[in-house]
Amino acid sequence: MIDLRSDTLTRPCSDMRQAMMDAEVNDDVIDVDPTVARLQSKIAELLGKEAAMFMPSGTMTNQVAVRLHCRPGDEFLCEAGCHIYNYEQGAFAQLSGVAARTFQGTNSSIDLSQLLNQVHPDNEHATQTRLLCLENTHNKGGGVVLPYDSVAETCHWARESGLNTHLDGARLFNAVVASKISANQWAQHFDTISICFSKGLGAPVGSALVGDESMIYQMRRHRKLFGGGMRQSGFLAAAALFSLENNIPRLAEDHQNAKKIAQIVSQTDGLQLDVAKVETNIIVFGVSPEIGTAAEFCEAAKAAGVWMFPFSHQDVRAVTHLHITPEDAIAAGEIIAQVTRDLKK
Ligand SMILES: *Cc1c(COP(=O)(O)O)cnc(C)c1O
Repeated sequence: MIDLRSDTLTRPCSDMRQAMMDAEVNDDVIDVDPTVARLQSKIAELLGKEAAMFMPSGTMTNQVAVRLHCRPGDEFLCEAGCHIYNYEQGAFAQLSGVAARTFQGTNSSIDLSQLLNQVHPDNEHATQTRLLCLENTHNKGGGVVLPYDSVAETCHWARESGLNTHLDGARLFNAVVASKISANQWAQHFDTISICFSKGLGAPVGSALVGDESMIYQMRRHRKLFGGGMRQSGFLAAAALFSLENNIPRLAEDHQNAKKIAQIVSQTDGLQLDVAKVETNIIVFGVSPEIGTAAEFCEAAKAAGVWMFPFSHQDVRAVTHLHITPEDAIAAGEIIAQVTRDLKK
């Protein structure tokens, strides 16, 4: 089975497991775990920020960020397809009493012209606009890298307008590798950044919220409130450190493998995909209704040896990751093409 459901499926390699076994640990709630401390310094340094906080998931780092920047009755602005808005149970509302206002992006990117004059005036009828959230790479957008100049421009506008900025960078390192723009350069436009170690980087668990030293006290309080205070979490941090030290450049292989699959899919009659839009490790392709729904397509593909998730009624998502070889990618593309031909009959 070639499993393309998600880049979260990877299992630690033996060297990563060894690094976990060897980790120096301590209670990270009572004290600070030394391996967690090393991870936090390393990720902060990579992003050119002062500090970071290790947490169990990307959902938690995003939600701690929302809570850090907003009070109940505030709102944040975001792109309509983003993870914070669509895939976190509306946690910003459930946990922090915060509202969200969405803007439909072009290729998942919000243009400055859409945001101008959108900050609510200080007025007792209105929510208070506090925060701009962007996502890079954009999952729902098929792993696209946001256009750098547009990110710089919209974040500059946000700051001039008195808003804070947060980046959901669950896959920021995919954007770094694909764009050849450093993590540091992307990060300078944001007050806080979420990073996932458990996606393409290949660690089993964990995310970091990166920002400035002045935010650490509140980040730590909110993390504890949300149940993310972990004890000897150095075992997990050791895996995340290993992933940062070993698995960043190899993301380029995932991108090449995604391109291989995309090339075959784009040449298959009955499937829709623009290869040029596959910039990283995510492929989102359309299935023509006469072939079936995305769910039906995924069921047939799974029976033939390629496992993928339906992403909407007619869209399928496939994700490459460190267990997928170039041979797997070509085989997966060919199986997808064959399944399409069979379903057409
Ligand atoms: C995976 C992901 C997250 C966080 O997911 P967790 O499963 O909670 O770690 C956040 N944003 C994006 C874009 C993601 O892909």
